[in-house]
Amino acid sequence: MRAAVLSRGAKLLEGLLKGTGCGRRPERVICACGALMESQGLKTKELLTILGPVSYARSMFQCPACNATRYPGDEALDVVGTTRSPGLRRLMARAGSQSTFKEGRDDLRIYAGIEVSPKDVERVAENIGQQMEAWQAREAVCASPKDKALPLLYIAYDGTGVPMTKAELAGRKGKDGPAHTREAKLGCVFTQTTCDAKEFPVRDPDSTTFVGAIETAETFGGRIYGEAVRRGLLCATRVVILGDGAEWIKNLADLHFPRAIVIIDLYHAREHVSQLCKNLFGTDEKQIRQQRIRWWTYLDQGNVEKILVQARRNLPTGTEIRKKAEAELHYLEKNKDRMRYAEFRAQGLFVGSGVVEAGCKTVIGQRLKQSGMEWSLRGANAIIALRCIMKSNRFEDYWESRVS
Ligand SMILES: [Zn+2]
Repeated sequence: MRAAVLSRGAKLLEGLLKGTGCGRRPERVICACGALMESQGLKTKELLTILGPVSYARSMFQCPACNATRYPGDEALDVVGTTRSPGLRRLMARAGSQSTFKEGRDDLRIYAGIEVSPKDVERVAENIGQQMEAWQAREAVCASPKDKALPLLYIAYDGTGVPMTKAELAGRKGKDGPAHTREAKLGCVFTQTTCDAKEFPVRDPDSTTFVGAIETAETFGGRIYGEAVRRGLLCATRVVILGDGAEWIKNLADLHFPRAIVIIDLYHAREHVSQLCKNLFGTDEKQIRQQRIRWWTYLDQGNVEKILVQARRNLPTGTEIRKKAEAELHYLEKNKDRMRYAEFRAQGLFVGSGVVEAGCKTVIGQRLKQSGMEWSLRGANAIIALRCIMKSNRFEDYWESRVS
């Protein structure tokens, strides 16, 4: 029954498309070079749609000056340079972003009776991902809400390794030996307007959007800034940056968000304190545990100075271990103003970057870090763009934007 209904639907669609992009045109067709283009008669194209294959005839125009061709009918139907209808591309992009391209192929067959190859799914998903990337960049520039007050905007970002093909890793070094991954940077923006009954901050529902790519910190800086502006950075009363204290995260905060409150994720800070305890008290498990509990309390109070004073009295004598301990002290000293947790909490602010860390798993890990996967830079970035748009609930916005 489904096959029969689809096939009838395809015939119906074929009938509806008759006349699109052919016959007399009210306006002239101009080439990108400026010359007037001439009709070369009808050309037939086979379109694959969600109803099945549909053939359609439209006029081809050619430029007498530079020989370029245009099909106004294809432009009207959003099928320039592709034989897949927008509806089908939408399904293929979603399928390719959710699971492997082969599984995406299987899903399309089972859910919709559509026969495409895994390579097809890959090609379309990559292509849509790249177009979404361009759309997102345009959106970031032009759309900035100015009509409503925004009390509190959070920006959080983090990095996570994506396994790459050998060719993409040539000449790169990993932690030990040659690199297996490259770092994808993921940023998220969300808002908060209330706290719950216990005075804990509450993230506004559906307010989280993501951006990300494998790229330099500098390029990513522009990306996360653009997203923050799109989300209302310029009219936000307060802005908070949440991160793990990595150097690039602080540098971007200084560069793009100078008036923001920068908060180091509490759990990262705790890890550093734990590490410090291990460095100072070696094998004395009991002492390590006791100090950790005490210093975590100081940390909660935002009193890093107290930890520093006590720790300095206990520096170990071994050169190597002393160096490690001093590195932790240096980290705490340098970041102490970003660890005033009691103060931040009193202001009703989030002090953990769990949202972006969860994002690293759901947006990137679940699709790009499955066992045996190896990505090209191009492919990985396209799928990351696609998944960021989907997880930001902007997938339909994108397709809306294509309807002129
Ligand atoms: Zn031309």
